[in-house]
Amino acid sequence: MARNPRFDVLFDPVRIGPVTAPNRFYQVPHASGMTNALPHVRASFREIKAEGGWGVVCTGAVSIHPSSDDSPLPFASLWDDRDIRAHALMTDAVHKHGALAGVELWHGGACTLNRTSRIAPLSPSGMPWLSTHLGFMGNLRPRTMDASDIAALLQWQADGARRAMSAGFDIVYVYAGMGYLPYEFLLPEYNQRSDAYGGSIANRVRLVRELLEVTRDAVGDKCAVALRISLEELRARPGQNGISEAHEVVALLADMPDLWDVKMDSSPTDCAPSRFSPEGSHEPVIDFVKRVTTKPVVGVGRFTSPDVMVSQIKRGVLDLIGGARPSIADPFLPNKINEGREHEIRECIGCNICISSWHDGVPVRCTQNPTAGEEWRRDWHPERFSPPASAASVLVVGAGPAGLEAAVTLARRGYPVTIADKATEFGGRLRFETRLPGLATWGRVVDWRMGQLRDRPNASLYPGSELVADDILGLEHTHVVIATGSRWTKLLYGANEFPVDPIEAPGIYTPDDLAGGVVPAGPVVVFDFDNYYLGGAVAEHLAKLGSEVTYVTPAGSASAWTLMTNELPLIHRALAKARVTIRTLRRVAAFGGGTITLADVFSGARQQFDCASLVIVGVRKPHDELYEELIALGPDLKKAGIASVTRIGDALAPGAIVHAVHSGHRYARELESTPGTAPYKRDFPA
Ligand code: ADP
Ligand code: SF4
Repeated sequence: MARNPRFDVLFDPVRIGPVTAPNRFYQVPHASGMTNALPHVRASFREIKAEGGWGVVCTGAVSIHPSSDDSPLPFASLWDDRDIRAHALMTDAVHKHGALAGVELWHGGACTLNRTSRIAPLSPSGMPWLSTHLGFMGNLRPRTMDASDIAALLQWQADGARRAMSAGFDIVYVYAGMGYLPYEFLLPEYNQRSDAYGGSIANRVRLVRELLEVTRDAVGDKCAVALRISLEELRARPGQNGISEAHEVVALLADMPDLWDVKMDSSPTDCAPSRFSPEGSHEPVIDFVKRVTTKPVVGVGRFTSPDVMVSQIKRGVLDLIGGARPSIADPFLPNKINEGREHEIRECIGCNICISSWHDGVPVRCTQNPTAGEEWRRDWHPERFSPPASAASVLVVGAGPAGLEAAVTLARRGYPVTIADKATEFGGRLRFETRLPGLATWGRVVDWRMGQLRDRPNASLYPGSELVADDILGLEHTHVVIATGSRWTKLLYGANEFPVDPIEAPGIYTPDDLAGGVVPAGPVVVFDFDNYYLGGAVAEHLAKLGSEVTYVTPAGSASAWTLMTNELPLIHRALAKARVTIRTLRRVAAFGGGTITLADVFSGARQQFDCASLVIVGVRKPHDELYEELIALGPDLKKAGIASVTRIGDALAPGAIVHAVHSGHRYARELESTPGTAPYKRDFPA
């Protein structure tokens, strides 16, 4: 198909200093959880994006010196020449597809706790980087940099830039964002210096200016020099000679970098979850930059719609469309637009599981794209599939995230596949969950897969079809996949953190009851020890329906695990706005007769209040009776021509949607393949 001429502008080449980006699709630096210890995993992950049409592909943070040591969070390094080879693997792979490779040289300053190097963290004035995130909390305060430390930092940047050039990078960054060292020099709270680097805005900008100068000197006219800067906080401060301090900083450095890469300051606003922020949410902060500089500007905003991208360019907001999450969710996004297949883009859902992988210290995972991080180690290409090994057909029972992903991938491989669900609408748990506040965008998990299935003649869809073992025996499919999901239980949470026996009394519900249409009478307690998004979302939903809601959790905050996905502060804000009372560090000890009893998880102190309904969001169990029935048939399966029955997704092990999708994908990839001795290839440092 031909490209829609409306999108032509997205494919204009853009000059960036001495190099030229082949189009406007720019994969900005983003955390991938892939350190120099995983050089092939990393090179393939980045290469696929270049193959998919991204004109520029960048690394994540690359530390320039052991005094910038984020461990146990993963980061890359260019500390000495031995690090070059690991990066050269990536630049070679990216160049193969005609894209440019960028490197985000990075010094974390007081933000890095140097847990491995044990070097006192560096900072402008000895102020610690305050954080409520465990990964950034430390008990070693940073030290104040003196003149020789500043000279050393400039030298590390210059050395890093030279090594980056040797590794084959085309764009070399100075990174002044997100709390890291050069950013700390920009803010008076962290920079209380009385020398030439503190005080006036011109002085606070001096370090960034010098970093740009030494980088330029190091790379000459071989590489472009980019400045990545956070502008949210500065934009909120009135300037003395400009509208805001952000305007002043950009004006002071206007044409010094070859490229401005502009962003927000804190992870929840920068990598904003879709529950609380729409596409393009950075615009009000960064919209002025292009008016102050003549150099190209790149920015992000979870852009997945080509019309929104074109509008950013036509309205003069951005020159290059930055993508981190959209490039993870669909590495082939640019090519799909180029080929007139924009309806096939697998749009990022903004769930931030990707960023949680970095917080977990592991290679990136993605809810929408199960091949992310698996390109090399499992040989999963997002757009290429091995053909069927036989004429076998497959029946998938259950059309939630796991079943849909299995069916799509089997169909893309070329298997005749039938997918049935007892519900009249496909989507599994997402049928209910996307109706909860802020979660509609997650419906893209279902929408993309339905679009793919509807387009394929080898896929048959049967909504409204509850299957029992006898039906399956009569259907003549070679392989049967059970993707029947899980059920929430009424187990409680015990004093010693064990699940305790189910509680039974009128007025006790689980999310499955709510999904089935029950509206609990108020006042309601939502007791959440699942600790991901659902408990908080259910509490907000019920409050918005008009109930008096108390949210109770044994954890220290509401939806505690969402700290990993940047959603936690925004969930607390949303619950407060919906007037939900939050009681943390409590468990439900008893419920009945219109009264609930809570116990403090540490002291055991009890507290009682009126409560008509209790909604427990705790433990799920696989809904796998159909699987058990089929397996129990033993030789009768073979007689019916069924070669295998396999459980996937929540029916195997209940988990987040990302795991269900991965499970479905893995089944489909591995069907009729010869199992290796190891589950995946192991990578080793280059
Ligand atoms: P997962 O996250 O593993 O994909 P879900 O709970 O989201 O699991 O989806 C499971 C789906 O399986 C639901 O849509 C449910 O209606 C369907 N299902 C469960 N049992 C049967 C059955 N016997 N026949 C057909 N569909 C079923
Ligand atoms: Fe988008 Fe979620 Fe994938 Fe991250 S994990 S890229 S937020 S779909």
